[in-house]
Amino acid sequence: MDHASQNIIACPDCDLLQRVPELPDGAAAHCRRCDHTIALNRPESLENTLALTVAAAIAFLVANVSPLMELSVSGRQTHTTILGGAQEMWLRGEPLTAALVAFCTVFAPAVHISIMLTIILASRQTPIPSWVGKLLRWSEWHQTWAMVEVMMLGILVALIKIAEMATVIPGIGMFAAGALVLLVAAITVTFDPRKIWQRIEWVNGSIPPTSSGRPSALPKADSLSQQNHPLTAMSIGLVCCESCGLVSRPANVDNPGHCPRCGRHLTLRKHHAIQRTWALIIAALVCYIPANLLPVMASATLVSSENDTILSGVVLLYKTGSWHLALIVLIASVVIPLAKIMALAFLLITIQRRSIKEQRERLQLYRLVDFVGRWSMLDVFVVTFTVALIQLQPLMSVQPGTGVHFFAAVVVLTMIAAESFDPRLIWDSRNEKGG
Ligand SMILES: [Zn+2]
Ligand SMILES: [Zn+2]
Repeated sequence: MDHASQNIIACPDCDLLQRVPELPDGAAAHCRRCDHTIALNRPESLENTLALTVAAAIAFLVANVSPLMELSVSGRQTHTTILGGAQEMWLRGEPLTAALVAFCTVFAPAVHISIMLTIILASRQTPIPSWVGKLLRWSEWHQTWAMVEVMMLGILVALIKIAEMATVIPGIGMFAAGALVLLVAAITVTFDPRKIWQRIEWVNGSIPPTSSGRPSALPKADSLSQQNHPLTAMSIGLVCCESCGLVSRPANVDNPGHCPRCGRHLTLRKHHAIQRTWALIIAALVCYIPANLLPVMASATLVSSENDTILSGVVLLYKTGSWHLALIVLIASVVIPLAKIMALAFLLITIQRRSIKEQRERLQLYRLVDFVGRWSMLDVFVVTFTVALIQLQPLMSVQPGTGVHFFAAVVVLTMIAAESFDPRLIWDSRNEKGG
């Protein structure tokens, strides 16, 4: 296998071609133009990831079979598990939100952990079977949607709200879920997918990493650093795989086919990125209005009943003295979704106007949008676990309101919008203008 050409990569965020140097243990290489971390060398990465993944699988099982918390009011008790929360939403007439909660808290983490275990165990063979590449591609996607840490914060907010009116006892499930959050974070830090990608064989055995089969199709590694004018993969007809990072020269640039290493459909830029992102953020903006105006929760006691919107929930938290939680919910549920929609619109407009100003700053804005998006799901979890616990009819009960599925729609639409966007477009006008 041609190792020199394996060291040439195109930055996933700005498409600049560059050579990755040999890295000492623990070191990282950053993109010369946009500072994206393009390579890391984590010693013992696979061994440590295996140990962490086994621990995460155990924590996941315990977190799902034991009660998260118990609640007691005037001698009556209820308790809930993670799936019990989703089930309760289903029974209260919110099947879509229930499915979303189950997907983000149970299904996606379960798939992510099992895929990681399979990948690491299979990677002990030499050569690594090519299906491992396909799995590795999927693991990234499930990682985005696995939201155990957001769920934990949601449970915490729900607990503090409920503690005003009842005694809450955290269960074993809660501690296991807490351990799971730490373990999943540790896996992300420890796992070095490049170690596996480098050992996966191309589909047709021995050919070097070019779809056309010509090793000379890639530029010479030393010639890259001497370029004073930025050389991107697209500008010289190369395509970078979005999953495994393999740079290859397709026979036909307009229809590059599939990545020879992981089988992903190759594109120079994400398909219709601008139109799709616009459509998704406009849809999100439309849902944002009912999400904030309609009640997300309706609570009833023997003597009174009231409807809570997201904002009145924030006010309630503030009045009961937990101003810091009020601030977190306000930022996660009201500020972040709107800021995300506005930031993506700003990025799209500047790309359409072919702006070459502040490209680094605009890319940082995109990274921030992509990173904080998942935290908006907070209020969906707060509602779910409040509803699941407070079912003490006729004494006290809480029902989900219609606002909650509009709110969930805003979060999902903005997350997909951020994924549809292609940050490399920010840099393309610079290449066109030759600056
Ligand atoms: Zn870059
Ligand atoms: Zn690939």
